Amino acid sequence: MKAIAFRGVGDVRVESIPDPRIVEPTDAVVRITTSAVCGSDLHQYHGRAVVEPGAIMGHEFMGIVEDVGRDVRAISRGDRVVAPFSISCGRCEWCLRRLPTQCSTTGRAVFGGRFGKQFPGGQAERIRVPFADHMCERIPADLGDERALFLGDILSTGYACAENGGIRPGDTVAVFGCGPVGLLALQSAHLFGPARVFAVDRVDYRLKLAEELGATPVDLDRGDPIEQLRAATAGRGPDVVLEAVGHEIPFAQAIQAVRAGGTVSSVGVYVEASIGFPAREAFFKDLTLKMGICNARNYIVPLMPLVRVGKLQPARIITHTLPLADAPRGYAIFDRKEDRAIKVLLKP
Ligand SMILES: [Zn+2]
Ligand SMILES: [Zn+2]
Repeated sequence: MKAIAFRGVGDVRVESIPDPRIVEPTDAVVRITTSAVCGSDLHQYHGRAVVEPGAIMGHEFMGIVEDVGRDVRAISRGDRVVAPFSISCGRCEWCLRRLPTQCSTTGRAVFGGRFGKQFPGGQAERIRVPFADHMCERIPADLGDERALFLGDILSTGYACAENGGIRPGDTVAVFGCGPVGLLALQSAHLFGPARVFAVDRVDYRLKLAEELGATPVDLDRGDPIEQLRAATAGRGPDVVLEAVGHEIPFAQAIQAVRAGGTVSSVGVYVEASIGFPAREAFFKDLTLKMGICNARNYIVPLMPLVRVGKLQPARIITHTLPLADAPRGYAIFDRKEDRAIKVLLKP
């Protein structure tokens, strides 16, 4: 089959590799109908996250079950399914604590990733899904791939970011970062009834979409975002700041921008082992900080009805749908923010 392999910094290639097959009796093999390039794939693409040359990329995928191991009960051949980006057993202490990203059986593995046991990714024609009963969620026929796919990663992450912010009706919210996760955090924030939502970025077409999704744009090129947010909130700052970038500067700005006693919720993926942290300001502000990798498995089922009725519209961030063979171009335009790219889907 065809799959997208990492070959070096800025170098992903379409390669022919053997089809995956059932290894454990709890496995499924899924024929992929849609996958996507995620912002965190760019960490690998840039060599900031170590992956072996030849590793198959991608952790956002969905498709049709083609084969199941003899112990799989909950799904069967022909089922249309989505799976979360992290691989979990559903049975260990961490899975039972509803922290599947901390699964000790898989060593916190991510499809196509560098943690724990290594599993090939989903930018491919097929994928082996371990612990298929726990991992695969069936998707109703009326929910197209474009609306269902992001349940496994960026929609759940964006929603969790908003939820962790503890937004209350009437609050003012600021979202730092208008990439795919930030835009879905923005959409999700609206479900909690804020009076106003600001979106901070410097990429004009992304700010424009944020505005269409109900946010007031804050352009980083027009000056200090903290000052701009203060000016727009009578000097007090937003009640809740959602951080969806994963770098030192926006993280510090989120802490500096939030009002006294407010909440900063951070879901940006940090590549640095440690970053500067305005600890004194955070302390004297009495703020709440919530951060972490999203336990997406927990969100797939509860968010599905919100997508079905259109209260969440994840497909609005899709800008490109490319054949799998064009994945190298998909990575390049997403990485360089060319051709107004926000979210790139790949069709095997
Ligand atoms: Zn991702
Ligand atoms: Zn587990």
